[in-house]
Amino acid sequence: MIYLDDTANTPVDPAVLAAFCAAETRYFGNPNADHPAGQAARAALARTTEAIARLLGVQPGEIIYTSGATEANDLAVKGLAQAAAPAGRHILTTALSHASVRGALDALRQAGDTVERVPVGADGKIDLAALRRMLRADTVLLSVCAVDSELGAVQPIEPLADLLSAYPNCRLHVDATQAVGKLPLTLAGVDAMSFAPHKFNGLNGVGILYKRSRVPLTPQIGGGAGATPYRSGTPALALAVSAEKALELALTHQAARVRAVRERNALLRAALLRYPAVRINSPADAVPHILNLSVRGVKGTTFQRALADRGVCVSVRSACSSDGAPSEAVLAVTGDRRNALSSWRISLSHLTPLPALTEFLQIFDVCCKELIP
Ligand code: PMP
Repeated sequence: MIYLDDTANTPVDPAVLAAFCAAETRYFGNPNADHPAGQAARAALARTTEAIARLLGVQPGEIIYTSGATEANDLAVKGLAQAAAPAGRHILTTALSHASVRGALDALRQAGDTVERVPVGADGKIDLAALRRMLRADTVLLSVCAVDSELGAVQPIEPLADLLSAYPNCRLHVDATQAVGKLPLTLAGVDAMSFAPHKFNGLNGVGILYKRSRVPLTPQIGGGAGATPYRSGTPALALAVSAEKALELALTHQAARVRAVRERNALLRAALLRYPAVRINSPADAVPHILNLSVRGVKGTTFQRALADRGVCVSVRSACSSDGAPSEAVLAVTGDRRNALSSWRISLSHLTPLPALTEFLQIFDVCCKELIP
C-alpha cells in the first residue's frame, strides 16, 4: 500500500502512544471527582494543559479539549456567534472553509443568521478589499481556514486580525487543523483557533480549541461544568497527554519535517508536470504537504478509484463523489468547473517514504495511459 493521505490522518508517533498508555494506566480517577484519585488526575490534567498552553504561547484557561477539530470548529463557530448575537447576526467565511465549519454555519443560517462568503483570489487568499466592503457594524464572526485541506492554500492571519481591530464586535475564528506543525502560529488578534493532533502524528479522538480569555462563548454541550465551563463531560486525560506529546514533537521538529515534505513535494510536482494533461491546482505558496491536481478529461473520483485499486491512497473531496458536484474550494481558486470536477489530492508527511513516491509515479503513469481520453 502507498499512503498519500496524511491530510486526512497520520500514523501515530510511538512516543505519543506511549505517553497515552502511561497516563491511561496511571490515572484512572475521574478528573472531576473530589477524592484522591480524582485529584491526582486533575493535577495531571492541569500539568498537561499548562504544557500545551506554553507550547502555544497562551494561558491554560484558554484551552478547551474536544473530540476533534470538527467539534472544536462547531463549538467555536456556533458558540462565538450565539454569544455575540445581541450585537448582530452577520457572519463571514470563505469557500475554503472545512465541512465542519460549513455545517455549523448552515445551522446558524437556519436559525436566522446571515452568512456570506468573502471571495478568494487565484492564490486562495481572502480578497481583503472585498472583506473590507463586506464587513458591517453587525458582523460578529469571521471564520477562516489557515490552511485549507483541499489545496493547502495559506491564509495570512495577521492582515485579517489587523482589519478586524476596527470592528470590536467581530470575532476571528481560525481553523488551524492543517496549519499546526506546518506553519508558524499567529495568535495575535485571534479569538479562537481549532486543531486536532491526529493531523500531526497524534491520536484520534481529541481536538483542541484555543479561546481567548474574556471572549464570550456559548457551550454546545450542557450538563455540568467539569474541567471547563465550555465543554462538559469527563475530561479525556490520557488523550490530552497524547495531544501535548504530539504538539511538542510537531513544534520542536517543525523546520526539519517541513524541509523533508518540501523535498517530496518538489519531486512529485516536477514529475507530474511532465504530463501535458496535468494541472496543479495548489497555489505556488501552498503548504508542501498538500498537492492538489487535475488530470484533464478524467473525473477526480475515477482517478482516485483507479489508484485505490492499485493500492494507492489519495483523496477526493467527498462531495465530489455525488456526481456533478465539483470541489467548491478548487472551483473558487481556479474558477474552472471542469477542472474542479477532475481534481484530487495527494498529501504528504515527513514520514512518506521516498521509494513510495517513485512507485506512485509508475502507477500514476499506468492510470494516465488507461484513463486519459
Ligand atoms: N478542519 C480542517 C481544515 C480539516 O482538514 C479537518 C479534517 N479533515 C477538520 C477541520 C476536521 O477534523 P477532525 O477530523 O479532527 O474532526
